Amino acid sequence: MSKQRETNRELIVELLRSRGPTSQADLARASGLSPATVSSIARELRDDGWLGDGGGREPLTLSRTAGVAVGIDFGHSHVRVAIADLAHTVLAESERRLDTDHSAREGVSLAGGMVRALLDEVGVGAERVTGVGMGLPGPLRSDTGEVGDSAILPGWIGAVPERMMSDELGLPVRVENDANLGALAEIVWGAGRDCSELVYVKAATGIGAGLVLRGRLYHGFSGTAGELGHLTVDETGPVCRCGNRGCLEAFAGAEAIVEPLRRRYGDDLDLRRVVALAHGGDLGCRRVVADAGAALGLAIAGVCNLLAPERVIVGGELAQAGELLLEPVRAMIRRSAIAATREVKVTAGVLAERAEVLGAVALVLRESERFVAAPAPVAD
Ligand SMILES: [Zn+2]
Repeated sequence: MSKQRETNRELIVELLRSRGPTSQADLARASGLSPATVSSIARELRDDGWLGDGGGREPLTLSRTAGVAVGIDFGHSHVRVAIADLAHTVLAESERRLDTDHSAREGVSLAGGMVRALLDEVGVGAERVTGVGMGLPGPLRSDTGEVGDSAILPGWIGAVPERMMSDELGLPVRVENDANLGALAEIVWGAGRDCSELVYVKAATGIGAGLVLRGRLYHGFSGTAGELGHLTVDETGPVCRCGNRGCLEAFAGAEAIVEPLRRRYGDDLDLRRVVALAHGGDLGCRRVVADAGAALGLAIAGVCNLLAPERVIVGGELAQAGELLLEPVRAMIRRSAIAATREVKVTAGVLAERAEVLGAVALVLRESERFVAAPAPVAD
């Protein structure tokens, strides 16, 4: 095969992996290759076992034998694993509880066992895994890959999760923070399908944003782009856990929402219960959620002025409040953003607690060329 031919073939496989099922016409447009070239490459890929069933005018899709992607998501007290084929079909998922003070070693070995069991369940060997994506709710140092000071997962501080998981599984692994994974998941399976300019806001214990520009995650120079929770909304506001004053998180993070309600509802009140009470019509909880929405909207308006996204998706536990949160968010954006972005679509994420694990799978599907080469398909 000529070098050019090989490059074109890799390009088509890459487009199919990142976009899922795609028509030949769209592949030609996206690759810049002529329809005749795309058609002849498609024939070749089909003969070699790379493409799934369906012919003629059906969209092309990578076959299951071309490989699978694995996603792992560590949260405060759970680990989730999901496996999808390269046609973007989720094949299997599982979840286990985890002690909040578990060590990184315990977490890695538990997740490793879950991955092996799920691969067994779907009947796929490790040699057919394209890559493993992994999500952690904590800051990651982009230079060393170490987990930074993280109150959410204390047992992981100083660990190098990418290397640990890669040693455990013998597979290439990439780690991302939870907000970035939420953004990818909503693009592939959720409310942001086919969106190339997207802002995803994860509002839960902390607040973070995943920024998608031209269809790709934006990391910035240091890797920490998207720290929306630490945007200053009031210079004289309360002190934030980052040491600054008046950050968005100090107005709309879980603690800021729950704290003023504790006197009435008791010390064990948490965000989940506040959202449930608000849905039940409790006026105090509705007021606090609406105020958080206004603060969130003020910060998002600034982001809209800067980036002019096509859509803003709000996920995380606070987003379960639905319109009680989103209406004040939109009202503040209408008030504060410039005319061109004032009417940006603001919707809730649709993947709820599965967003991160599906995002970890999407990391492999959409960004894997950055850490792993495509494997050769293996005959069934
Ligand atoms: Zn802060």
